[in-house]
Amino acid sequence: MFDYIIVGSGFSGSVMAERIAKVLNKKVLIIEKRNHIGGNCYDYKDVNNITVHKYGPHLFHTDYKEVFDYLSNFTDWQPYHHRVLAFIDGKKVPIPFNLNTLFEVFPKSLAEKLERKLIDKYSYNLKVPILELLKEEDKDLKFLSNYVYDKIFKNYTAKQWGLKPENIDPQVTARVPICITKDNRYFTDKYQAIPNEGYTKIFERMLNHPKIKIMLKTDFKEVIDIDYANKKIYFMGQEFKGKLIFTGMIDEIFDFKYGYLPYRSLELRFETIEKEFYQEVTVVNYPNDYDFTRITEFKHIHPIMTNKTTILKEYPKSYQPNIDIPYYPVFTKENQELYNKYREEAGKFDNLILLGRLAEYRYYDMDDVIKRALEVFEERIR
Ligand code: UDP
Repeated sequence: MFDYIIVGSGFSGSVMAERIAKVLNKKVLIIEKRNHIGGNCYDYKDVNNITVHKYGPHLFHTDYKEVFDYLSNFTDWQPYHHRVLAFIDGKKVPIPFNLNTLFEVFPKSLAEKLERKLIDKYSYNLKVPILELLKEEDKDLKFLSNYVYDKIFKNYTAKQWGLKPENIDPQVTARVPICITKDNRYFTDKYQAIPNEGYTKIFERMLNHPKIKIMLKTDFKEVIDIDYANKKIYFMGQEFKGKLIFTGMIDEIFDFKYGYLPYRSLELRFETIEKEFYQEVTVVNYPNDYDFTRITEFKHIHPIMTNKTTILKEYPKSYQPNIDIPYYPVFTKENQELYNKYREEAGKFDNLILLGRLAEYRYYDMDDVIKRALEVFEERIR
């Protein structure tokens, strides 16, 4: 019998499995419904021999040394600083919107005036969320904030979330603040790098342990039953006394009893282009044009010499339960309240641990998930 059962093999599930097996030498079963490990970080070499990210671009960045050190047990790294351009009024300009962008979109004299005002008001090196900048009363800064809101955030957020920026949790748009710097990088974290052989190799190495067994192509509901009334968990018909670590959707484990939690989904369309390169950088955002939000060109992440290139267009869409992939929890007060009801339910079980973007209904990045899993291992397992 297993000591732990883990549902899901993304970073939450895989970090937990690796720690339990390596540190505690206990037996772990991972149940994964897909035909591969790695969750949405899964990458593979496509028909063009280019490493692509099956579930959309994943660029690792963190300020947490412990997370970078932990992952470094499973990979070597290639330094990589992610750059994104946004297609605005026929021109590709750096985002996050920064002082360089100012000079790209406005005449020099206006850009200089706005630059001076931004530095006076906020000081160099500061990052200001758009919803904060919109509160500006100075006439020039107000003009600037309205411009950035209209050109960068309004339509992109409408496509991505089906909502106005002011109607989602402010943390979402604050992920891409206005930067009072001349640094064109998308992230400013201390550690930014690409795993040399991709993410899937990291997962393979984490899970390659005699105490870890993996059941692919298995929906947890095929092997796990939950007795909600008595707060008991059954595995293949027998009561399971070990701990269940669940990294799927929290509403699903409770059979959607309080209703479906909303998620946002994506349709991902890969295309081969018969050119050496399609665009200047890995990601170009299209806030105001087309139905997709962005185009990723994977060759910029793992360079190889070919005359072809693979690009990915992301078309956001609403999430239909049991059909679509739930990529993003939708952060609103109402949804958080629904989540809290499920969370309370989960708290009544002694041997159930919920972990990760779906189970905690949080917009975690890869490093947040790894940090959280390492903490939960220390606090609740070890
Ligand atoms: N965002 C935007 N315009 C952009 C980039 C981002 O409006 O050009 C907003 C949008 O609401 C988006 C959020 O900022 O969902 C977070 O963007 P991020 O690039 O972090 O999204 P992710 O890579 O996680 O999809």
